[in-house]
Amino acid sequence: MTDATPDRHVVIVGASLAGTRTAQGLRTLGHTGRVTLIGAESGLPYDRPPLSKALLTSDWTPSAIDEVRLVAATELEDLAIEYRSGTAAIGLDTAAKLVRLADGSEVGYDVLVIATGAAARPSPWDPGSGVHQLRTLDDARMIAGRLALKEPVVVVGGGFIGTEIAAAAVHYGCPVVVVDPVPEPMARLVGPEIAGSLVGLHLRNGVQTRFGAGVVGIEGRAGDLRVELSTGEHLEASTAVVGIGSVPATAWLAGSGLTLDNGVVTDEFLRAVGAADVYAIGDVARWPHAGRAQAVRAEHWTNAGDQARYVATAIARGTAAAYASSDYVWSDQYDWKVNAVGWRDPRGTSVVVGDLEESGRTAVVHLDAEGAACGVVTVNWVRALNQARRRLLAGEPGTVIVGALRQLL
Ligand SMILES: Cc1cc2nc3c(=O)[nH]c(=O)nc-3n(C[C@H](O)[C@H](O)[C@H](O)COP(=O)(O)OP(=O)(O)OC[C@H]3O[C@@H](n4cnc5c(N)ncnc54)[C@H](O)[C@@H]3O)c2cc1C
Repeated sequence: MTDATPDRHVVIVGASLAGTRTAQGLRTLGHTGRVTLIGAESGLPYDRPPLSKALLTSDWTPSAIDEVRLVAATELEDLAIEYRSGTAAIGLDTAAKLVRLADGSEVGYDVLVIATGAAARPSPWDPGSGVHQLRTLDDARMIAGRLALKEPVVVVGGGFIGTEIAAAAVHYGCPVVVVDPVPEPMARLVGPEIAGSLVGLHLRNGVQTRFGAGVVGIEGRAGDLRVELSTGEHLEASTAVVGIGSVPATAWLAGSGLTLDNGVVTDEFLRAVGAADVYAIGDVARWPHAGRAQAVRAEHWTNAGDQARYVATAIARGTAAAYASSDYVWSDQYDWKVNAVGWRDPRGTSVVVGDLEESGRTAVVHLDAEGAACGVVTVNWVRALNQARRRLLAGEPGTVIVGALRQLL
């Protein structure tokens, strides 16, 4: 249970999806107290998924960039959200209820929302130039500039973001190789059936893969890189983009007394463990997931927005219900729309409905080790996704869900 505190000063640290949506949500829900939004990056808050998709292949005009903004300056003003951009938080004193900022100032809070998200897992290879990572708007702009040269690119990491970058490289006309030490890198999220089809899609579009091969080193400089693989092969590239996951942005919380363990650990109400009146949401938060036997840190857009709405409600109106995740994630790969709800148990089994090659759409229903339906992944099939999502929420057995999806074929 959380009590409503609609007239208190709420300070939100991290001004991206989770932070911005919390600030907006507080006002929508009638919060009358001060709202301060603090962001390390300059400029207006922006959305990240387009950085590896539409924006990466756009013409980078001011209007293309405006499209990814999460809020306009006028709206921040209208909602009386005090926005401090380009100022990182560097410390937290939970006893004095103070956030210390990099510019030397301090901001006191009644309620603190930590929404500092994640940063790209640092590349172990740093030859001086030519190796890029993608997390911010500036990163995307730099990578787009390199792709526009149409020169060979090596993408290290075959997850969603790595393969989306590879598709963008193809769009620009670059020869591209994706390297990953795991034989089926996307299988962890979508299962082997769809992972295999996705690899086929990339190959058909001209992407080369070296899966099951690790990168041992990257040498040279931008325009003249040499990527050494564990198999002994060397790849020549003009640009390398390293997408090997992300790490929660918690360094500024060291010594704060909060429990930090692969993110800010929270209770089921998203209240940070270790201090009163502190919440953590979005990519930085690790919370006890009701449907799984463990704490979870999700790095998905929908979760960040849902948690923002939940916490804004908890602060403005109070709530008796624990946070319940919708467990939804998507990726765009060329013209394929991949959607996943729920989760995949690596010890479980799966049932495929529909033939992707024949009909251009498919759904895979995942069952956990006990045989209960726990997740569904669809490709180009929104109707099946929506139906499966409802049925999963209702706790229907896997056989019933599979039957219903077959009816839709
Ligand atoms: C290229 C890319 C593509 C993606 N595509 C998809 C997709 O297709 N589908 C999907 O579901 N998800 C996708 N995601 C993930 C999704 O964007 C994230 O889940 C979402 O952005 C999380 O929002 P957040 O606000 O929690 O954290 P973030 O977006 O990481 O934002 C955190 C903000 O806090 C700021 N910050 C960090 N430290 C401090 C500090 N000390 N002081 C002040 N500010 C600080 C950061 O600068 C940043 O602006 C993608 C992510 C990336 C990078």
